[in-house]
Amino acid sequence: MKSFTTRSLNIPYAKKDPHNALAMPIYESVAFEFASAEDIAANFRGELPAHTYSRTSNPTVEYFETKVKTLTSAHQVLALSSGMAAISATMMAICKQGDNIISGKNLFGHTLALFEQSLSAYGLETRFVDTTKTELIEPLIDENTRAIYFETVTNPQLEIADISRLAEIANKHNILLIADSTVTPPSVFSSKSLGVQVEVMSTTKFISGGATAVGGLVIDNGLYDWSKNPNCLKFAEKFGKDAFIARLRKNYYRNFGMPMTAHTANYMIAGLDILELRVERCYQNCMKLGEYFRPNSKVTRVDYPGLEDSPYYELAKQQFNGVPGSVMTFDLKSQEECFKFMNRLKIIRRATNLNDNKSLIIHPYSTIYTEFSENDRLEMGIRPTMMRLSVGIEGADDLIADMEQALGE
Ligand SMILES: *Cc1c(COP(=O)(O)O)cnc(C)c1O
Repeated sequence: MKSFTTRSLNIPYAKKDPHNALAMPIYESVAFEFASAEDIAANFRGELPAHTYSRTSNPTVEYFETKVKTLTSAHQVLALSSGMAAISATMMAICKQGDNIISGKNLFGHTLALFEQSLSAYGLETRFVDTTKTELIEPLIDENTRAIYFETVTNPQLEIADISRLAEIANKHNILLIADSTVTPPSVFSSKSLGVQVEVMSTTKFISGGATAVGGLVIDNGLYDWSKNPNCLKFAEKFGKDAFIARLRKNYYRNFGMPMTAHTANYMIAGLDILELRVERCYQNCMKLGEYFRPNSKVTRVDYPGLEDSPYYELAKQQFNGVPGSVMTFDLKSQEECFKFMNRLKIIRRATNLNDNKSLIIHPYSTIYTEFSENDRLEMGIRPTMMRLSVGIEGADDLIADMEQALGE
């Protein structure tokens, strides 16, 4: 198969451009015209597929979806306004009041808030579990369980679950396996080959091409029989294999108003073309930083699942081609030392995002997790001595020099 980048650069448009434009135009148009009253009636009956209104679909957004679909060999792809829109719409599309899902306990903060606060108000229960201990999962499954949900590499704990094992459990019980693969983008991770049925992703992070726009994706790998989910049964009878994305697009994307805009899609399209290059550079930088700062007298701990001494090194190799994203953690002797170090940095920026082109650092204990009790933080693996570094594409030597000078004498 041709390389990710070669394929990304050569995915044809749905219609030939009248000016032979090499870049996909940004269709900043809300509505689309029909040739006749008969045609528009046929479209509304579902017999003449065409773009009608950009809250439901748009040609530039469709091209981004087509690129992702081709690059991942997925069955169907939907691009939404944010990663959180992708996750919330997915959950609403597969569950109703009284249903439950089983979720990894170490989650992106707003996903945790969505499950614990937003969806619980509509009668959807989340049962949290350590997904690296797969034997704990089956006892939690009952007849109202609709899915197992997990993140491919948890942040900032950097834990990795055995995905094929999770898929086996989900298949045995006819429930979905849903992966949030934000930190392991499609140039290094094929969710389909490991049996993940639905993939959700924040394209805000790696895919946007360097923190340019907020967006999300839902990917249906085509591995699940949608008639097995009672909430998708009616759509399965009408749309067959397309049931899930059809239900998502109509009942949530359209009715709740979650579309990606054409302008955002333009950033995402450009971001996909350089994704493989950027991820590779970030990975090389992680490895160089990891090797240079191997625990020494000042740095008491370095975590990155790409490093051989990580307990997740083998799983990272098997599941992500050895490239488990570009988030690392570093520990110093105390919180004070961390603050002093961060304040001296000149190239690495103090910010909370991930997978920007710029390297970003944060002290999770005093920021993202500040509202949690001391006990909860320690239980979640959030140490006061730990900093999270999202490694960018700067020169590795420049990053090392910046960290060296910030560590002080
Ligand atoms: C950022 C992030 C999200 C949310 O994405 P937004 O685009 O900010 O809505 C979800 N999951 C993970 C793992 C993330 O890092």
